Amino acid sequence: MFAKLSYSLYLALVFVFGFWGLNLHAQEAEKQLLEQEITRFFYKKTLGFDIVVDSKIKSKINAPADAFEWSCNKKEIRIAAANSEAREHAVYHFLETVFGFNYLSADAVDRPSLYPLATPDNKLTYYRQEQRKLLLEIEKNGLPKKACYEEPAFEYREVFYGECRRGQFANFHGLTHSKDNTFENHTNWGLWVHTLHKLLPPQEWFGKHPEYFALRNGIRIPDQVCLSSKEALELVKTNLAKEMAAKPEALYWSVSQMDNYNYCECAHCAAIDKEEGSAAGSIIRFVNEVAKAFPNKIISTLAYQYSRSAPKLTKPLPNVNIMLCTIESNRAKPIAGTDFETDLANWSKLSNNILVWDYVINFSHLVGPFPNWQVLGANLSLFKKYGVNMIFEQGYNKPSGEFEPLRAYALSKLVWNPSLNTDSLYKYFIEHYYGDASEEVYALIQLQTEALNQSGMSLTLYEPPATFINSFLSAAYLQEYTRLLDQALQKTSAEPILYQRVQMLMQSIRYATLECMKLTAAGDNWIFSSNPTPQNQHTHGLLPNGPSYAQVLDTFTQYAKLYGPSILHERYLTPQEYYARTQADWAQATCTHKALNKAILYQQAPDKAYRDGSNIKDEESWHYQQSINNGLRGTIEYQFNWMGWWGRDAEFIIDLGKEDTIRQVSCRFLENNQAWIVGPSKLLVQGLKLNKGIYLVQQEEQVANATVGLKLEVGKYPLSLTFSKPMYTRYLKIKIINPGKLPTWRGVNGNGWLFIDEVELY
Ligand SMILES: [Zn+2]
Repeated sequence: MFAKLSYSLYLALVFVFGFWGLNLHAQEAEKQLLEQEITRFFYKKTLGFDIVVDSKIKSKINAPADAFEWSCNKKEIRIAAANSEAREHAVYHFLETVFGFNYLSADAVDRPSLYPLATPDNKLTYYRQEQRKLLLEIEKNGLPKKACYEEPAFEYREVFYGECRRGQFANFHGLTHSKDNTFENHTNWGLWVHTLHKLLPPQEWFGKHPEYFALRNGIRIPDQVCLSSKEALELVKTNLAKEMAAKPEALYWSVSQMDNYNYCECAHCAAIDKEEGSAAGSIIRFVNEVAKAFPNKIISTLAYQYSRSAPKLTKPLPNVNIMLCTIESNRAKPIAGTDFETDLANWSKLSNNILVWDYVINFSHLVGPFPNWQVLGANLSLFKKYGVNMIFEQGYNKPSGEFEPLRAYALSKLVWNPSLNTDSLYKYFIEHYYGDASEEVYALIQLQTEALNQSGMSLTLYEPPATFINSFLSAAYLQEYTRLLDQALQKTSAEPILYQRVQMLMQSIRYATLECMKLTAAGDNWIFSSNPTPQNQHTHGLLPNGPSYAQVLDTFTQYAKLYGPSILHERYLTPQEYYARTQADWAQATCTHKALNKAILYQQAPDKAYRDGSNIKDEESWHYQQSINNGLRGTIEYQFNWMGWWGRDAEFIIDLGKEDTIRQVSCRFLENNQAWIVGPSKLLVQGLKLNKGIYLVQQEEQVANATVGLKLEVGKYPLSLTFSKPMYTRYLKIKIINPGKLPTWRGVNGNGWLFIDEVELY
């Protein structure tokens, strides 16, 4: 066809039909790409293939935009697709299918070659003699007779991983990507997500017109826009028009809620949402008005958290896109059958333009093990079943998260075709990427998945590894993973590239070990000795002859500093900071003091959800072995060691067993305003004397917390009270005052949590 035309005829056509000329030129580029790759396989020999690159698909009438077809027989190759990206994808698909060429990652291009050691990236193919046999066969007898037509399951396919933006990865796997491979650009999108503050900036409008913003518990706050405000709607339209004028080529424009739960509850918004059975009601009515003003654009909005359920009455206009998010879903099991499926089914009745925003990693612990392997394909198949047309798989844009190369590869294959067998995909990748270590690496994935399944626990996006200490991250499982990967390291010790790849997997186990074994639930493997001295702390390790925990921390930090990730949480915590924090935690983890393991009588017991496993009977009984005075201080994870009181004071009596002299009380509290955890306003201590069943106050001391209500970094802070004179007493009453309402800067009208551990007497 066109590509076979002579050069002079080509020039003539360019002259007469300029637009054809462009097309011809593009097809020539794909032909060259194909020739160039084949030449590389055969080590500079051209085999004289007769190549046709066409823009017309014959297999299907009205094939979707990115569909392609190819066929081959002996010396003939034909490639066809309507656009140049799809043709390039077709070239790679052909080379992958017929020659076994694969692009595992930018650092692992599995290119077949007659000369296996010709280039460094061909090192791996040394183990694949069958590839070489195949090439010899093609050299001798020509290409096999084959034909293929492919179309994508989803029209928009974005896999948000650093790996997918490197080299030719996106082109090879047919991902939707911008020409410059940047993260900020989502092809064809002008504004992407959480845009209402951009379109109605609170710094400009909230002071003058608080009524344009959300009413929560009786007060206006800037967190979200009041979507029944006509003035807010007009301003959003005006500002959106300006944005569009600056980027006229973009089709999709997001008009969407901000990333918090504080949607407007004013009488108008509340009435709409009640009538619609969902907070999506006021959103869709608002967005439809915007969409009417821009009939040639598509207005996208979120169905996210509080707005995930579809409205009962209002249908999104045809030029509205719904960005439906799976953020809450359990990743231990496929989504099918959950309330997310119900929401998806309902939205799919209202709209045929749905982008599913799916999440595939743990964003608070980028290196931690996250065995969601069994849901990746199943969930994409479910989205396909309901006619979802766009997919955004959110991983992480910086390299070296847990199993990043495998995740990027498998997801890229699955967003094209979710019905592929995921197990075969994982096996293929592992075999080619980990070579001699593949058996152990595959076993690691299997074992983690089985252990998670057996425990019946959910796998969600932000949980600390220690959550799974009785599941797939128990000491016994961590030991087994370590043994497997030690074996894999031994097997690859003479192969630096493979050895390095296995080390990156070991990083995940090192991290989980440090994070899980700091809990008393680690039993004999606990990082701290139950009878600690500076000499015996964390000098032992997970395995009898293995490295100590101190060495594990050193090795983990060294590797992370060299090879990433540059931060361990999606927004913060460099490896150096992690090292310093862990060292500080270790130095302060245990303590001895005069109230150590003494009996406690709660006058206000902590909330049931945050008692750190303590079995608290009632507020009349003495309790022993309480977390609050067990000599083990909580870390920044509020889920462990801490006791929590919501909107109430912590109030209890400690029985020292006999009279003793106390000079100082110190209590540590947690700050984490995202989780509604705030510092106390005051610490009050009374020395009591028990007289005929009644406690009489002998002495009272108190100290105010100077930082109460301030916006502090997430962390643990001390509040100490040195008495005006020593207190000689057997019973002490401790009262830690909860400031009650959250500070106004938090933007939420709710009660704060008080998290305390440990209360120490000196
Ligand atoms: Zn409102």
